[in-house]
Amino acid sequence: MNRLNPKPASFAHRFNDDETFDSICHSCFQTVAQSAHEPDLQSVENLHVCNPSIVEHYRELSKAVSDYREERSDVSEGILNRSGN
Ligand SMILES: [Zn+2]
Repeated sequence: MNRLNPKPASFAHRFNDDETFDSICHSCFQTVAQSAHEPDLQSVENLHVCNPSIVEHYRELSKAVSDYREERSDVSEGILNRSGN
């Protein structure tokens, strides 16, 4: 991925108990805007630039979780193979 021209961010909208909307970035998981009017979120979203260190943090976390799951599945397969013999 080109760091100078990353793909455009996408956002999830969460409706809050106080009848406002939060806009949450899918890349850095930060709440980038809050408004009582959902369409108003877009202007802030258009200006949002992810903090690269936060994006990197979640990328590494995701990789660690994925590696952990792979290790666990290797362990389970080992147990299954042993009990099968
Ligand atoms: Zn972001």
